[in-house]
Amino acid sequence: MKYIVCEKPGRFKLKEKSNPLKVAGEAIVSIKKIGICGTDLHAYTGNQAFFTYPRVLGHELAAEVLEIEENNQNIQVGDKVIVMPYISCGHCVACRNGKTNCCNKISVLGVHADGGMQEQISIPINLLIPANSLSYEEMAIAEPLAIGAHAVRRAQIQPNEFVAIIGCGPIGIGIMKLAQLAGAKVIAMDRDPGRLNYVKDKIGIDHTVLAGNTALDVIMEITDGEMATVVFDATGNKEALEKGINYMAFGGRYILVGLSKGKLEFDHPTIHAKETAIICSRNATLEDFKYVIAILEKGEFPVNSYITHNVGFTEMIPQFDSWLDPGNGVIKAIVNV
Ligand SMILES: [Zn+2]
Ligand SMILES: [Zn+2]
Repeated sequence: MKYIVCEKPGRFKLKEKSNPLKVAGEAIVSIKKIGICGTDLHAYTGNQAFFTYPRVLGHELAAEVLEIEENNQNIQVGDKVIVMPYISCGHCVACRNGKTNCCNKISVLGVHADGGMQEQISIPINLLIPANSLSYEEMAIAEPLAIGAHAVRRAQIQPNEFVAIIGCGPIGIGIMKLAQLAGAKVIAMDRDPGRLNYVKDKIGIDHTVLAGNTALDVIMEITDGEMATVVFDATGNKEALEKGINYMAFGGRYILVGLSKGKLEFDHPTIHAKETAIICSRNATLEDFKYVIAILEKGEFPVNSYITHNVGFTEMIPQFDSWLDPGNGVIKAIVNV
């Protein structure tokens, strides 16, 4: 079978190896579609500090079951499954409390372990989520949307509150649509006017704000001087992360979804006066995936607008460099295996 390996930063290689053999507790699945995200782009450019090479990338996976033993999820050969890429230990304090998304020994397929850029892969059965009601496209975007669903759940959004999302990348867009579906009045911010037009026209977000010196005044006007009771950072950019608190209302929640590399600095009197709840949101759980599947089943997410690029398996290698250029307007690229 064919697989694609990232041998070192800047180099993918198409290779051949024998098909995986079935082992107890695991299923052999045929990968149908792979979503590409910022993590993959950073791994390819060598910007991901904890990455080791060679590595098979791919953690946003839509698959079909080829071989499986009897299992209590009642998954059968031929079923369509989303692969939840987070391998958790099941024993640590986080796992015992149901927070498998932040297991202290977490290993993410396509990040810490080899992922799905291969025709077939052996996956622990408990990481498979049946999704026969969805298309493979919808299944391939379930993982990034589940990250958004987790963040929205962490924020405990109430209907009609103002929610600002900083960063209109694939994660930010997922958060803004899911927050809107939860009843929030959504404000999207980005430094790229093209992205703002895209979320207004294609994703249906009413309020868009260009990042920069005037952003504070614009948000003040939209919110009638009160600012947003929830602010999400979906940039992972230090400067944006430190500024985001200014857009938050007194008594608000600040949800950090994007990950920056180093220290953040906040003025304590400012965050104290607002009684700021700073809440980090990491990965997603089975509950978040199930929530996203229900949203996709209802057709409430603009899947066709979200997927901007679609390529074949071997075509991906020569195309990958072009996805690094923001001028090409990539939100979500899907690789067809
Ligand atoms: Zn991803
Ligand atoms: Zn654990």
